[in-house]
This record gives sequence, C-alpha cells and structure tokens, in this order.
Amino acid sequence: MHFTDLGIDTRLETQLAHQGITQPTDIQAHAVPTALAGHDIFAQSKTGSGKTLAFLLPAVQRVMKQKALSKRDPRVLIVAPTRELATQVFTQLRLLIAGTNIKAVKILGGENFNDQIKALRNDPHFVVATPGRLADHITKRSLQLSGLELLIFDEADRILDLGFTEQLKMINEQANHRLRQTLLFSATLDHAQVDALSRNLLKKPKQITLSAANEQHSDIKQTLYLADNLDHKEALLEHFLKQDDVGQCIIFTATRADTSRLSEALNDKGFKSVALAGDLTQSKRLEIMDSFSRENFKILITTDVASRGLDLLSVTHVINFDLPKHAEEYVHRIGRTGRAGFKGNALSLVGPKDWASYIAIKSFLNDELVFASVEGLKAKFKGIKEKKPAAVVKTKKVTQVKKPHVKRKAKPKKPVAPIKAPMNIDGDSPMRRKKKPEQE
Ligand code: AMP
Repeated sequence: MHFTDLGIDTRLETQLAHQGITQPTDIQAHAVPTALAGHDIFAQSKTGSGKTLAFLLPAVQRVMKQKALSKRDPRVLIVAPTRELATQVFTQLRLLIAGTNIKAVKILGGENFNDQIKALRNDPHFVVATPGRLADHITKRSLQLSGLELLIFDEADRILDLGFTEQLKMINEQANHRLRQTLLFSATLDHAQVDALSRNLLKKPKQITLSAANEQHSDIKQTLYLADNLDHKEALLEHFLKQDDVGQCIIFTATRADTSRLSEALNDKGFKSVALAGDLTQSKRLEIMDSFSRENFKILITTDVASRGLDLLSVTHVINFDLPKHAEEYVHRIGRTGRAGFKGNALSLVGPKDWASYIAIKSFLNDELVFASVEGLKAKFKGIKEKKPAAVVKTKKVTQVKKPHVKRKAKPKKPVAPIKAPMNIDGDSPMRRKKKPEQE
C-alpha cells in the first residue's frame, strides 16, 4: 500500500520517501483516511508504531489543500505532555513541511516567553506545545484559538496524569466551534480519566484500537533479573553493558538524583554515559538529546521524563534500573526500543523495593514476564511472598504457627515488618526513595 492510496498528496509522499518512509504502518493506514474524512479520532496504538505521522500527515494535507477558517489563528494545535515529545513531534513536522510555505512554531515551558509571543505574532499554521505554557499564552491572549481547525492530543493520558486537566478544558473552550476536528492519540488509552475527557472533547469519534496497551510488543524482548541491592544492580548493569549486542542504551532510574549518581558510577567504570533529568535547563536537555541522537555517547540515564518522545532507532536496549511505579509507564519506557520494526531488548532489575511495581506491571500486562539470571550474579532475593490479609495475620493462630518469617519472629507484634525489612536491604539510602519521580 502507498500513502497516496490513503488519500495523501504525492508531494507529501515524495517528502516521506526522502526519509525512507514508503509504506504506511497499520495505525497510519487506519487513521489517515479517517482523519482526512473529517472524523474525530480516539486512537490507541503501540509505542513506535508511527502514531506521529498518523496525525501529522492528515493535518499537513489539510493545511496544504483546504482554505483556512481564519487568516491569523493557528489552524492546527498539537498538545504533547513533555517537552521532549513536543520537540520530537515538531522535528517530524518540520521535515514534512520543508519546502512548503507552511509555518510552524514550538511553544514549550522553560523557554523565553517573549520570544514565543513574537513567534506567535508571525501567524503560524501549526503550533506544537506543552499544555502549561500553552495555557499561559491563552490567558495572556497572545494566542487565540477561535480559528483552530484541528486539535490533536498526543499521549492524552500522560497529559492528564501530569495534572493538566484544567488546561485541557481551557484549550477546549477556546477552540470550541462546530467545525473543529479533534484527534486523541496514545499508546495507553484505557484510562478512566481519558474516557471522561474524550466525551467532552470528541464528537462522534471513530475509535481505532490496533493493540491493547497491555499487549506484549513483539519486537521487544523483555527480561527481568532479580537483584539483592544497589551494588548487585550495578554489577548486573555492568555485565549487560559489556555485551556485544548493546548499541545505544537508555537506563531508567527512579529519581533525578539517581541519574547523576549512576552516570558518575558508570563513567568511573569507563562507560561513557550522560544523565538527562528534568531539572536541567531546557537548552541543556535539548543539547543532551541531540548529542545522544548523533550517537556521541552510548548510554543515556534518565527518569520517566524521557519515557515518551525519545525516538531513536539505534536504541537496542532499555534497562529499568528501577521499575516505574505505574505499570503504563513501563510500556512507554520499553517502547524507546524496538521502534519502526527494529528489534529491541528491555531488561528490568527487580529488587525488593521494585517488587510492588513488578506485581502491578505483571497484572497490567497480559503475558507472564520472564525472569532470567546471570551466572555468577544470581540474586539471593527470590521475591516477596504475597502477604496474608492483615486481619488474619494479627490473629493469635498465626503467631502460633511454627513457620513465621525470620524477620517477623523478631518483632511478632508488628506484622508489617516483613514488608519493610526487605525494602531496607536494597542498600539504597532512604533519601533516595523519598524523592518522587520527576514530572514535566
Ligand atoms: P512514532 O510511533 O510516531 O513515534 O514513530 C516511530 C518511528 O517510526 C519514527 O522514527 C518514525 O519516523 C518511523 N516511522 C513512522 N512511520 C513509518 C513508516 N510508515 N515506515 C517506516 N518508518 C516509519
């Protein structure tokens, strides 16, 4: 099938061919004609499946071919949860519109507000933005949306998770006219909040679900390794990084502080790595991403800030040094590899502190997750047995049973102790875990 079979203009098809893109992916084959026909869309498709072009192609084609509703207001607004993802979308958009007179701007938090006002005065056709800064521009009236034709939400669930519900409502109200078309995309749409949001935003949407969020990704080999503590995790990591099949690698940790600490530890061991965390300035973040995409270094260590938006085909491995708290985030993290038909590996280290996350991920995904071990680096930790309900544990009968947990024996009156004890043997400083995972 060709892109022109989907109704895409030959000029755009040629532009895609320059990028080596000749055949539509499944999501593109479904979403492009539906969007071109003017329907609202509620779409879910796997990470790396070509979602971005699935909404960019019909959007660019519309701007190229149809008359604008307004001369001044943007015609297409794309909202993405993180700066990285917005930048990624903007980069693909720029490639598509190269050589046309279509104007696009990127409006991100952390960048100069006045420069953005100037860029918006230039009457761009496309605005790609993160929600917080976008709402600021709407409030200050530097951005009007009454002429908006196409409103696109990429990773809508994540936008809501980050607490931008009010901003979304504001955007919806500002662009609330009968001719507006709305497209909602994500890898994970089975989310109660998204469902409620879609009822407000979308008019008779066509639902496109090519794979459930929890379906295993056939191009990503997922393997888990039990780990006793921080030192053990580092030893396993070192072992993995020494393997010949490792190209570029993204390592996810729980907190910002961990990214720098681990990066220093790896650099000391001779692995060239860079830490990317949300507290860096926007220009520094972009510089790091750019340098990684040019393959100037092999290992990027980050938190969930980069779990969406990094689209690099040379990433052969994703390593979860710590498991994410939310099962959906696991899907997005591992989706940084195995993109566009390439094969990828996702290795996850599961220590006592990760156990609860592991249980959540296991129940979210349909299939069993496979554990493996490395010769010479086998863990003593074997997982945490499911706790009996508290009411039962507290009864006399249980304390009389002759096989209490060793740790429980020391403190028979505190049945919660067995959970805390293995957490402490992870070897991480308590401070390390007190910090919340960063958000955009
Ligand atoms: P996405 O899911 O939009 O983040 O896209 C993942 C990767 O697939 C990006 O590198 C795209 O450039 C690439 N891609 C998108 N559509 C196609 C296609 N039809 N053929 C080959 N690669 C594609």
